[in-house]
Amino acid sequence: MQETLLEVADLASAYGRVKALKGVSVTVNAGEIVSLVGGNGAGKTTLLRAISGVQPVIGGSVRFLGEDVTRLAPHARVDRGIAQVPEGRQIFAPLSIEDNLRLGAYRRRDDAIAADMEAVYELFPMLKARRATPAGGLSGGQQQMLAMGRALMSRPKLLLLDEPSMGLAPILVDQIFEIIASLKQRGVTVFLVEQNAAAALSIADRGYVIETGKIAHEGEAASLLADDRVRAAYLGI
Ligand code: ATP
Repeated sequence: MQETLLEVADLASAYGRVKALKGVSVTVNAGEIVSLVGGNGAGKTTLLRAISGVQPVIGGSVRFLGEDVTRLAPHARVDRGIAQVPEGRQIFAPLSIEDNLRLGAYRRRDDAIAADMEAVYELFPMLKARRATPAGGLSGGQQQMLAMGRALMSRPKLLLLDEPSMGLAPILVDQIFEIIASLKQRGVTVFLVEQNAAAALSIADRGYVIETGKIAHEGEAASLLADDRVRAAYLGI
């Protein structure tokens, strides 16, 4: 039996009268890569932000390792092992790459921070080479790597990734997805939201399709990739 890491049940969220999530249920088991795909405005970002605690919810629940975290502050969720890589990276441009990474560990009080930074540099050698330079000088793909490295510095059990491929050239998209797939070997569980359904599902174990705030399809990633409805709507086939 796989351990359930994240259990989102019947989650609802709204911006004023606009219902962005209308009863969304997803689960992520330890060791999996799970992708949530959907078009513009379907509710992907809202769901990730509700899981990390920065978006208020009006119904349903978020459980992490069996604990109800629905009302916990975002920093308390980080302490429990949830880290988010936000849409648009949100790196701190004037700060050095190393200081950006250090900020990812700001809630930690253990003595393995330096070792984890080395592990991040091993995963992203380009960041090490430029570690003393301001993060604002990095390209989009490099900023995505930095944002992922920063999230890994919190030692997450679950990494939430919001559209990591956004705005990147195809070759960089491939590279980013390869890195995400390699995180699984490092024992990090990933919940990925993406408009790039083909790439996101091709590295995932399971997937969900969200349409206007509701889960429309779910299943093994390979079955979704083979599903005619999914192919027609999201893969342009
Ligand atoms: P995208 O890929 O464009 O980021 P998404 O799937 O992440 O889309 P959300 O950003 O979660 O979708 O948006 C879901 C719905 O909520 C949309 O109808 C959107 O217009 C609305 N929405 C999102 N943010 C706000 C906001 N700050 N104020 C009002 N409505 C919002």
